[in-house]
Amino acid sequence: MNEMTANHADSDARADLISYLDFHVEAGIDAALDERPHDRFAEAEAVQAAAPRAEPAPRREPPPRREASPGEDAPLEFRRELPSRDPPPREPPRTYGNAAGAKPGEAADDARARAAQMQTLEELEALLRGFEGCTLRFTAKNLVFADGNPQARVMFVGEAPGADEDRIGKPFMGRSGQLLDRMMAAISLDRTSAYISNVVPWRPPGNRNPTPQEISICRPFVERQIELANPDILVCLGAPATQTLTGTKDGILKARGRFYPYRLSDGREIRALATLHPAYLLRQPVQKRLAWRDFRMLKSALDGSAPGK
Ligand code: URA
Repeated sequence: MNEMTANHADSDARADLISYLDFHVEAGIDAALDERPHDRFAEAEAVQAAAPRAEPAPRREPPPRREASPGEDAPLEFRRELPSRDPPPREPPRTYGNAAGAKPGEAADDARARAAQMQTLEELEALLRGFEGCTLRFTAKNLVFADGNPQARVMFVGEAPGADEDRIGKPFMGRSGQLLDRMMAAISLDRTSAYISNVVPWRPPGNRNPTPQEISICRPFVERQIELANPDILVCLGAPATQTLTGTKDGILKARGRFYPYRLSDGREIRALATLHPAYLLRQPVQKRLAWRDFRMLKSALDGSAPGK
């Protein structure tokens, strides 16, 4: 092979390699977890056999069927049909091998015991930075603890960080976050008057759904975070946050638009409003009218209730 032919072959191989990597990134596979392939289905079955009491996977709603009724008084942010460049809808949750080590129940108990000892949000964040009981932390670039004002009367809780949040280390930084900001602005809220977090503070690789085990390990932390932030109203964004925090088994299209009682460990009860996740609204813009109704409920509740802080 002469030198020119060899150079061509090199650049062809390079181009092939780049397009192979692009293909994986497009498919959401953007992190190499191991040198060897794993049979996640076999591992999942082993974990499930070892932990028969695992919580049922959160249910996903089927795509909506009804069209928006015209003339609703929603602000533009709740009506605008954005071209969807979001990743395709996530698949139903799969168990991702032994994400939490062999005994997720023990990791969750350990998380609960440790979280309960934290007396401030700063302590809780520091605890999470050192916590090794959830393997998501090893694949994530950053801990995504919170954004906004911890003194706010309203706290929004999403599901788990995506790529933008993982890179920046703050929740709701990507397109979902931009939509959330606009939705908040429509009821005169912003990140100085709201506190924002997620059920799971580390990005699941490739934007997959967090597994029930990962959620059960992370849940004590977000529950403690809610107690320490002490909002008047909690807003659960999407089914995983709603089901995790309110205990409802209803899908989000049924659960949304309702206030659920949310009891803090000191016995105080606050209200948790279930609504649609902004990522879902980016994929199903026609459903923004439902979110707008929920946000009006939120606004009335904030206006009506006596300021707690
Ligand atoms: N989706 C979430 O649930 N949380 C984020 O922080 C970003 C997107």
